[in-house]
Amino acid sequence: MRALRLRDWKTEPELVEVDEPTPGPGQVVVRIGAAGACHSDLHLMHDFEAGAVPWNPPFTLGHENAGWVHALGAGVTGLEVGQPVAVYGPWGCGTCARCRVGVDTYCENPAGAPVPGGGGGLGMDGGMAEYLLVPAARHVLPLPEGLDPVQAAPLTDAGLTPYHAVRRSWAKLPPGSTALVIGVGGLGHVGVQILKATTAARVIAVDTREEALALGRECGADLTLTPGGDAVDRIRAATPHGRGADVVLDFVGADATLKLGVASARTVGDLTIVGIGGGTLPVSFFSVPYEVSIQTTYWGSRPELVEVLDLGARGLVRPKITTFGLDEAVHAYHLLQEGKVAGRAVIVP
Ligand code: NAD
Ligand code: ZN
Ligand code: ZN
Repeated sequence: MRALRLRDWKTEPELVEVDEPTPGPGQVVVRIGAAGACHSDLHLMHDFEAGAVPWNPPFTLGHENAGWVHALGAGVTGLEVGQPVAVYGPWGCGTCARCRVGVDTYCENPAGAPVPGGGGGLGMDGGMAEYLLVPAARHVLPLPEGLDPVQAAPLTDAGLTPYHAVRRSWAKLPPGSTALVIGVGGLGHVGVQILKATTAARVIAVDTREEALALGRECGADLTLTPGGDAVDRIRAATPHGRGADVVLDFVGADATLKLGVASARTVGDLTIVGIGGGTLPVSFFSVPYEVSIQTTYWGSRPELVEVLDLGARGLVRPKITTFGLDEAVHAYHLLQEGKVAGRAVIVP
């Protein structure tokens, strides 16, 4: 079969011929219906080097996957060949306290995981191929009625990651509150939809690209603006008494966006750093509004993915998707790099 492989750090991926996987006991092979192209893959190709994460190339890219069950390993029950499924991407040990509640992202027994701190497309072979070997059946989630693999694939990361970030801040997003979304790309535009679908917050979206802001408005943002100039004043002016955003979700994570985020935050707010833009934020007693909590988040949990798939099946969250063939995947990444993808690029093998 064909697979888009990252052979080494600081290289471009290549489409090559590899063997089709076969499932061992407890494993599942999924025929890929769609695999999303995430900006994190660009970080893998361009920014990371040995030691940055606990795993290394070579592996097949694609950590945002959905398709149909193709083959079941010995002992797998509860799934049927041909059934449409989404793949939960972070693959932990399955037995530690975190994995047992579906939080494989923060597995505390990395030595027992198939790859420490990774998953398919992140240290192990991912879904930018015709078939994907999933090392444990618990990661394979049947799609609810009304959701096809092309819509479902981006929900597993571009949906799940902002969902987790929004969900953990729900208590700070009652009616009258404001959420600020910085970066309205693959994750950010779904983040706006999730805020609209699950909270009563006013949503302000910021991006450097006009097309991204137009997408933000399509997704329900109440106000959109470009950064720089008087952006902080405009954000504050859009909140009651200029108090600022209760929750800031930074899907870029650069110096400039962290600075914008903290300057726009309300006291006792949340600033959540999702983007891996390499920026830093000085934190000291007077540099941050009182009681602002600052956190990073990594992906989301398996129970949260079930909830995101439900939002998708009910049409409350619908990623904007442009599809590409497997032979166009490298081109799709170039477009993503150039900021020319609206919403999510999804590879359909
Ligand atoms: P994307 O390229 O689709 O979107 C990024 C958006 O940010 C684009 O619309 C771009 O125009 C905008 N942007 C760039 N610089 C900006 C700036 N200075 N101010 C405002 N907007 C700016 O990327 P994506 O796939 O949505 O991923 C976003 C980030 O999140 C990446 O760094 C990615 O690696 C990271 N990510 C993190 C997790 C996690 O679990 N923490 C998961 C997936 C992706
Ligand atoms: Zn990703
Ligand atoms: Zn674990």
